[in-house]
Amino acid sequence: MKLTIIGCSGSFPGPDSPSSCYLLEAEGFRMLLDFGNGALGALQRHIGLYDVDAICLSHLHADHCLDLCPYHVVRTYSPQGPLPRVPVHAPADAPRRLAAAYGMPDEPGLETAFDFVRLTPGVFEVGPFQVTAARVNHPVETYGFRVSYGGRSVAYSGDTGESAELVKLASGADVLLCEASFLEQPGLPAGLHLTGRQAAEHAARADVGTLVLTHLVPWYDREQILQEASLGGFGGRTELARSGALYDLG
Ligand SMILES: [Zn+2]
Ligand SMILES: [Zn+2]
Repeated sequence: MKLTIIGCSGSFPGPDSPSSCYLLEAEGFRMLLDFGNGALGALQRHIGLYDVDAICLSHLHADHCLDLCPYHVVRTYSPQGPLPRVPVHAPADAPRRLAAAYGMPDEPGLETAFDFVRLTPGVFEVGPFQVTAARVNHPVETYGFRVSYGGRSVAYSGDTGESAELVKLASGADVLLCEASFLEQPGLPAGLHLTGRQAAEHAARADVGTLVLTHLVPWYDREQILQEASLGGFGGRTELARSGALYDLG
């Protein structure tokens, strides 16, 4: 299983990265976790324009789902003719919300390009992958994911505040992509995002192999996020996500 970070910028794109999007590949099957704004451009550096086989959306905030709209154009109007529909595992109301974002009526909405499957907590198969979805701690319906293949696992926090569900979901994973949107400061809102220190605390409790700090918001100093993560008691490898970074899990 290979993991490529397409976009790791938090809340809005930055100069060096689109918003959230992660590519997982195994047996020639290509699945995206999130498809935030700007991701469709950077994705084409890594796979062909038409090569997406499945998509999982953690939640319907713009920075996690909006590039489904331009990708609808790709799948529906390409010179190669309409392409097969891509399954999109997403929270309730995704078809209507994304149709509205595009400027489409609800019917057919984006369903000429996508086959929407409503997410619920639990385990399901997507191509060769086993995917576990769990609700995390964010103001809207939001899921973290664990993707397993060939005895290896990648866990992804989605957007979340402190979450026992995330610790359970990530338990023993080889890689945890964990959001670290905030710098430590008094009065941070609960149930929204994590700091680097909190991300590392989740990684320590889940006993993961490598912690990759992601959803990095451009107005903060990334090195300071990493420094704060060093205070979280996690003994494993900790690094900052970078658009284009490849993790080959064998
Ligand atoms: Zn976000
Ligand atoms: Zn969010």
